[in-house]
Amino acid sequence: MNFNRRQFLHTSSIAVGTMVLPAQEWLKKLLAPAGEMKTLRNNVGIFTERGGTIAWLIDKQGIVVVDTQFPDTAAHLIEEIKKQSSLELDLLINTHHHGDHTGGNIAFKGMVKKVVAHQNSKANQERVAVSSKTEDNQLYPDTTYLNEWSQKVGNETITLRYFGAGHTNGDSFVHFENANVVHCGDLMFNQRFPFVDRTSGANIQNWIKVLGKAKKTFDKDTIFVFGHAGDGAEVTGTYKDLQAMQNYLSQLLKYVKLQIKAGKTKEQLLETKPEFIPGAPTWKGQGMERSLTAAFEELTGKK
Ligand SMILES: [Zn+2]
Ligand SMILES: [Zn+2]
Repeated sequence: MNFNRRQFLHTSSIAVGTMVLPAQEWLKKLLAPAGEMKTLRNNVGIFTERGGTIAWLIDKQGIVVVDTQFPDTAAHLIEEIKKQSSLELDLLINTHHHGDHTGGNIAFKGMVKKVVAHQNSKANQERVAVSSKTEDNQLYPDTTYLNEWSQKVGNETITLRYFGAGHTNGDSFVHFENANVVHCGDLMFNQRFPFVDRTSGANIQNWIKVLGKAKKTFDKDTIFVFGHAGDGAEVTGTYKDLQAMQNYLSQLLKYVKLQIKAGKTKEQLLETKPEFIPGAPTWKGQGMERSLTAAFEELTGKK
């Protein structure tokens, strides 16, 4: 009897234990704020929830949104915008085609005057949507450009610039000129191992040059917005962060070149990976394999 009772208590406490945890998780989710709006300068700011950082301009004369994360998080941003303005969006801009930057475009359908991206970004978005059979969930750019594109919205001028292949072959820098805020898209993974999308024309050697052109084009006062950041690192920063990213990519190539010279195969390179790339210790966390694989393939021309 005693034994059974003890056993009963034991099994029931386990049952309670497993029920409590999901309930706490559920409550945490319910109480968490849906996305965060943060003003950077003038009427320009960022929205962060899940996926690539979104930049926005919201004022009485117009609205601009750069990148859209996913449909559910984009809906949260739309709620925030509607609290401040009943205007239609003048511009919806995509820094590049990846799903964590264009997935939420569809939530803006019927609310925007123009959807703008680099021509390669549009082509990549279409190609990926066809191959993944997600064409019904896309809102594609209706305006594309090759080297530079600009439009005035209220008192602000928004300029898109393309400096060549980097994270993909269609990444734009989006400059709010008066506020002097630049969205870098995924050309900036601040202190986080970047995704290098070789199937979409990424190139690490050229990426270093692209960041160099950005440093020359913008200035010391520019606030840069980053697509992603590592744990504890910021999603905004200065030209110094671009310099650090350039250094990371250079050190990565240098390291992989040495390993290739030493006769290592791709498999051996991945097996013997260090904790961080020598000379770039602030790049850490998950995903070094993506960098090593991409660098190996780029340097050897082998898949
Ligand atoms: Zn991204
Ligand atoms: Zn990306």
